[in-house]
Amino acid sequence: MSTRIALYPGSFDPITLGHLNIIRRAARVFDKIIVCVMVNSSKTPLFTLEERVELIERTVSRLGNVEVESSDGLLVKHAKEVGANVIIKGLRAVSDFDWEFQMALANKVIEPEIETLFMTSSSKYTYLSSTVVREMARHDASIDEFVPREIIQDILNKVNQK
Ligand code: ADP
Repeated sequence: MSTRIALYPGSFDPITLGHLNIIRRAARVFDKIIVCVMVNSSKTPLFTLEERVELIERTVSRLGNVEVESSDGLLVKHAKEVGANVIIKGLRAVSDFDWEFQMALANKVIEPEIETLFMTSSSKYTYLSSTVVREMARHDASIDEFVPREIIQDILNKVNQK
């Protein structure tokens, strides 16, 4: 059987424990996970693309089969280029569903051989988003329960610079 490579895309601005939970679980199912920081032209990010990649790399450094990269292209095209046969999406609540369902169907039309798989968020993290983290950090609330330990200080430094 061919190597099962899954692409896990997102903005990761910054990576949260919710994202990390999906990455860890997916890494047990697939031979290789490529976490891909996608450029989203409709958002002004807190961290640059390079910074987001580096924060994720630091967080996943102990997972042997996880790679991190970025792309400003179309997700399915990129998946094909890197040899991924699966796109992983995390689902937190029904509110995530409509858009993700629509995207999965559109992507299937463009690249029929690439499957989108949805993983449900761990119940511990269903409330968690990068937006929540940025908002808490900006108002000096603790983010210890929300993001990997290795990157807490980077987030605090960044919001204090702005
Ligand atoms: P956000 O900015 O909303 O945190 P991203 O664009 O960085 O989201 O999310 C990347 C992927 O991770 C998406 O598939 C999203 O549904 C998923 N995701 C985000 N937060 C969580 C969470 N707490 N638990 C599970 N999946 C999540």
